[in-house]
Amino acid sequence: MTTKVSLSAVAVMLSVALVSGQTRVTVPANKYTPAQDVELGREAAAEVRQKLPMMRDDAVTSYVEDIGRRLVATIPAEFSHPEFRYTFETVNVREINAFALPGGPMFINRGMIEAASTEGEVAGVMAHELSHVILRHGTAQASKATKYEVGSILGAIAGAVIGGRVGSVVAQGAQFGFGTYFLKFGRQFERDADIGGAQIMARAGYDPRQMANMFRTIEKQGGSGGPEWLSDHPNPGNRVEYINKEAQSLRVQNPVQNTQGFERVRAHLRSLSPAPTTEQATRTANKGGSSAPRAGSSRPTGRVTPPSSKYTEYNEGDIFRVSVPSNWRELSGSSAVTFAPEGAFGDQNGQNVFTHGVQMGIARNETHDLDTATGELIESLAEGNPRLTRATGGYRRASVDGRPGLQTTLENVSEVTGRREVIQLVTAEMRDGNLFYMIGVAPEDDVRAYEPAFQRIARSIRFAR
Ligand SMILES: [Zn+2]
Repeated sequence: MTTKVSLSAVAVMLSVALVSGQTRVTVPANKYTPAQDVELGREAAAEVRQKLPMMRDDAVTSYVEDIGRRLVATIPAEFSHPEFRYTFETVNVREINAFALPGGPMFINRGMIEAASTEGEVAGVMAHELSHVILRHGTAQASKATKYEVGSILGAIAGAVIGGRVGSVVAQGAQFGFGTYFLKFGRQFERDADIGGAQIMARAGYDPRQMANMFRTIEKQGGSGGPEWLSDHPNPGNRVEYINKEAQSLRVQNPVQNTQGFERVRAHLRSLSPAPTTEQATRTANKGGSSAPRAGSSRPTGRVTPPSSKYTEYNEGDIFRVSVPSNWRELSGSSAVTFAPEGAFGDQNGQNVFTHGVQMGIARNETHDLDTATGELIESLAEGNPRLTRATGGYRRASVDGRPGLQTTLENVSEVTGRREVIQLVTAEMRDGNLFYMIGVAPEDDVRAYEPAFQRIARSIRFAR
């Protein structure tokens, strides 16, 4: 009897020691609300289901869902969001990939299950993805405003509606045009998702080292899909080592080994015809899609022709109309619409950038005071662009389609050319109180050629509401 008591006392002490040995994972700053995560994730998931072949196979679905439920049940209270809806769907494609969207929808490629050698490896990838969801990394990433984009939800919705591309909120980069905005993570987020995922696995009875094993498998996969997962989830360095180290502080008693369920599902998958590649699967599905180029496809070349004197009108999702020089192209963005000439836009270090052109969006305005709202907008811009400075001259009163507006000039150092660029910012209070903004960007040397175009574009704006 006495022995038993002292044993349990030891056990209590041990478990305290184990908890304190765990690495603490923190939730990053986020401008979105959890409800907005749900909304954005739902929209993106609908697009995913439309574009990718979902496996409607009860055996596979229920197997993956079981693992998912088991993991979800261990989410600690501090990270739990009652409004999140966790779903687990399998995509019938060959590549070793998986991704999860804000608010809960998770997609696991059939190729991921086929490449795993244990259920724990499948659970490891899912636990990693689940960590991104509960730490709200997708919208935290979106909060970090790309170039002059403001990470505002209204902006995001406007962006989504703009050009009729429902999915443009997630339509950046990536081969197949969705998801990446929420899916491409930086090293800190990756590390946190690995650590958080290891902890979830341990609580769910899996050995976290199996996550490290799966990542090793993925890294070994050269051309056949490994890199796709890795480009969204870059190795922060020493990934396998720190996961295994974390696993040591998370000792799991009798971890789940190979399960009958895993073997059954694998045998079932082998009995089906092989999964196509994502490219094969989406080739037909995406025909006739938007021809708008994605900003994330290349680096700006810097060879740019001056703004045409001919203008083309665009109707932006029944929010506003605008005319821009006809040699500029409309670029899909996550929360704003950008028009830029060929050679002026592209991708740098995972960020969409442009050297010449205009960007427009709508930012939530809670103050209903144009000066304050414009000041807040400039602050958001400065967060994503540390070298942004306000030029002298302050605000000039302006009017956009008859609505009260402000105009101001800012300066920045281009992340592409390293040279100074001038930013003409025009804001206006919309009828619903929100803030419309237009940002004209040109290198200092070219600003004289671009300023008249920015003015003409601003004059052409017509709000639909
Ligand atoms: Zn990740």
